[in-house]
Amino acid sequence: MIILVINCGSSSVKYQLLDMKNDEVYDLLAKGLVEKIGLPEGTITHKPTGKTPVIKNLPIPDHKLGMKLVLDALVDPEHGVLKSFDDIDAVGHRIVQGADYFSGSALVNDDVIRKIEMCCDFAPLHNPAHLLGIHAISAVLPKVPQVVTFDTAFHQTMEPVAYMYALPYEYYEKYRVRRYGAHGTSHQYVSQRGAKFAGLDLSNSRIITCHIGNGSSVTAVRNGRCIDTSMGFTPLEGMIMGTRCGNIDANIVPYIMKKENLTPDEMTTVMNKKSGFLGLSCESSDMRDMIRLSAEGNEKARIVFDKLIHDIVKLVGGYIAEMNGVDMIIFTAGIGENNAEVRRRVCEQFSYMGVKIDDAANKAAHDDTMISAPDSKVKVAMIPTDEELVIARDTMRIASEI
Ligand code: ADP
Repeated sequence: MIILVINCGSSSVKYQLLDMKNDEVYDLLAKGLVEKIGLPEGTITHKPTGKTPVIKNLPIPDHKLGMKLVLDALVDPEHGVLKSFDDIDAVGHRIVQGADYFSGSALVNDDVIRKIEMCCDFAPLHNPAHLLGIHAISAVLPKVPQVVTFDTAFHQTMEPVAYMYALPYEYYEKYRVRRYGAHGTSHQYVSQRGAKFAGLDLSNSRIITCHIGNGSSVTAVRNGRCIDTSMGFTPLEGMIMGTRCGNIDANIVPYIMKKENLTPDEMTTVMNKKSGFLGLSCESSDMRDMIRLSAEGNEKARIVFDKLIHDIVKLVGGYIAEMNGVDMIIFTAGIGENNAEVRRRVCEQFSYMGVKIDDAANKAAHDDTMISAPDSKVKVAMIPTDEELVIARDTMRIASEI
């Protein structure tokens, strides 16, 4: 089954075309990225497997044209991988926010679209862009089934004790203010894959998944179900991130707004786009820059690096207590997959309970790698995340049921 996986941002479209033989076996036919939609000069980078990649620069005023360019690239006589659009069996979309309407992926219909629209308030940058993607595909491929996979769905198994804020209850009733989490597709994928890789029985396991990238979250997964996660009402909550502040004393918000004469939208931008590594270092939101700068003696960058580890340790430690122990700790995403020092330093803090890292395995980790020593009391692994594969699997399953 040929599945097109779409991740539509406010000014970009990421895509992958997969030929799914079954849940485990698939060929990646092509992938690519449309960038700078709505700006004077846009770009499409198309990478067909086994063929030369192609980059085109041209104005891309809206998502509909962006999607048309993706589909044209897929059937292009020279760079394409399909004979015609008819070869696409289904399209799967990543959706950031499904609130408590969705605890799993769904086939797109009017009701699903209405509910995604109702979640736009909670994800004003992302959900409207996802809807543009769905409508653009409907316009170009009207007969092809579309499936939506939500970043929040995996976290819907949390109990009220984990998802309620201690605010007046009426805000939950009136405005649905509660914790929803994010990166759920990634936490689900790496916890399932990690359990299999380590030979654990997922239905009888305690796993902590650390998705540490530009956006970061840590999740406690008991018996295959999320019981707690660090992101909250929005992806701002939790630990330090590339440009997000993570947890702060909420009283800081009105305090700074008054001092700096900021509107709510401006303060939201400060916390989401100007904080984290970028805000604290005054230099960059990229962890590789933090590592380079701290090696050069930059004190602010060193604090950023140390705070990242400090925040992960607090979350992992808290989740170990919540689950009364842990069988496996998993690292994934840009930093979690690529930085051995973060993994080592986090795990060192749990040496008191028998967590032991195999330094050579940790340094050499690529693909799925067990990085704990054989006599470690807890298994520790690096598992590269693959959210697109989860979306493609769900899309295949749901589209096959039609
Ligand atoms: P996103 O959340 O946007 O998907 P990623 O998961 O791709 O982001 O993570 C991006 C982060 O990963 C950046 O901060 C980048 O510096 C970091 N990163 C990538 N490679 C390395 C590396 N070798 N060492 C440390 N950090 C890395």
